[in-house]
Amino acid sequence: MQKAFDIGLDSLLADKSAAEAVFVTGAPHRGTFYLETFGCQMNEHDSEKVAGVLLSRGYRQVDSVEAASFVLYNTCSIREKAAQKVFSRLGEFRDMPGEPKKIGVLGCVAQQEGEKIFHRSPWVSLVCGSASYSKLPELLAQLEAGEKRVTGLDTDTDETFETELTRRDNPWRAYLTIIEGCDKACSYCVVPYTRGPERSRSSDSVLRELRQLAELGYTEVQFLGQTVNSYADPSPRKMKFSELLQAAAEMPGMRRVRFTTSHPRDFSPDIVEAIEGDTRICNHVHLPVQSGSSRVLRAMQRTYSREEYLEKIAMVRNAKRPIAVTTDIIVGFPGETEKEFEETLSLLEEVKYEGVFSFKYSPRPNTPAQSMPDAIPEEEKSRRLAILLKLQRKIQTEANEKSVGKMFELHVEGKSRKENQWSGHTSCHRVVNFSSPQPNLLGSYVRVRVSGATPNCLIGDHAP
Ligand code: SAM
Ligand code: SF4
Repeated sequence: MQKAFDIGLDSLLADKSAAEAVFVTGAPHRGTFYLETFGCQMNEHDSEKVAGVLLSRGYRQVDSVEAASFVLYNTCSIREKAAQKVFSRLGEFRDMPGEPKKIGVLGCVAQQEGEKIFHRSPWVSLVCGSASYSKLPELLAQLEAGEKRVTGLDTDTDETFETELTRRDNPWRAYLTIIEGCDKACSYCVVPYTRGPERSRSSDSVLRELRQLAELGYTEVQFLGQTVNSYADPSPRKMKFSELLQAAAEMPGMRRVRFTTSHPRDFSPDIVEAIEGDTRICNHVHLPVQSGSSRVLRAMQRTYSREEYLEKIAMVRNAKRPIAVTTDIIVGFPGETEKEFEETLSLLEEVKYEGVFSFKYSPRPNTPAQSMPDAIPEEEKSRRLAILLKLQRKIQTEANEKSVGKMFELHVEGKSRKENQWSGHTSCHRVVNFSSPQPNLLGSYVRVRVSGATPNCLIGDHAP
């Protein structure tokens, strides 16, 4: 039988258990929904807000397709594989026995494919891109009134998606989108087409939500945006991004403020100064470079050269407090020569990133790079990716071994099945697995001495 927790709005926001199913008291019961998310952290957080909209309309969340009368997929189309996964999920409904379900496709694939989804999968009844999420209540009302197919596909908007209720899945770290969409035009990327133009939430609205989160007991927040540091406060207060970080850090109860993803072009010295000046602002910056070759960066329309990017890195590395830097890399962009790939390897050697997310270039619809000549064969992309991963593994192993003997403060977020084993993140976003005989450490902050290292995590012991 399905477990259900019948709780009110306030306690739902505060609910820190991984409830298998929740519904809101007082709202009419309209059926059950299952929501699966693909892709990035922003999609995960969009889903938390979409779930909030459904819950406040009286739907009840369940944890399987079988138990749901309404199945929603929040999709990603950043690479071809992610988009294919969605169509394979939709195909599963072709011959599904039992009561027909309502199916909704949300997010980037919804925006990219639009009404074509109805032709390919006629059992779908809702197609809605992320730029139209603020219209979700209207679209749901149309479905409830019996309409068979409804769409929200407008990207020409200056609205942001604000909800009264957010069904937060992470009990320790609250995510908060401060800027939606993207105005950059990287030649390989679908995001500007699928998420619409850049639009920032007002600083008042961000800080109001943050205050609520602190009152609910959250001590860590992560500001989100495709280019989070391009934040432009639309209110008369005109807070700069670095000022917003500072205001968030000063919120009573908040102990850690994070942000991702930063775009190198808009990465300014005041952000580093804010991190230097307040230890509640986490000393980690995710600054995607994509390639170490200025020629490839130009073809990618990234708006900076290798040298300009390295100037930003120097600014971060020269900070008064050590700041960890992670990045994203694409290998096998059309026309990338062996020598240009080696420039990416030499950049990795030079910067010594604390972490790298690397991807094989994937041609995407509507993007200029899709029709560029000199596509790199798949096997060659795989070869380059393997070389890059091997190098980065070596860099991370060396860096992690240097941490042995050091002390870190961790926010404890996980408990292993093994007795007395816990895990948490440092401010600089390293994962540390540690042992402690103390009970109930989840959500607390502890000091840990590092005793060992692997390429991807540190190992330590709870320090008295
Ligand atoms: N806005 C962020 C930025 O500018 O770096 C990143 C957004 S994107 C969701 C995350 C990463 O996916 C990018 O940094 C890039 O490395 C990768 N990516 C985007 N488009 C891609 C493509 N067509 N093929 C392979 N990787 C891609
Ligand atoms: Fe895509 Fe570039 Fe915008 Fe990042 S900055 S979302 S890579 S277009």
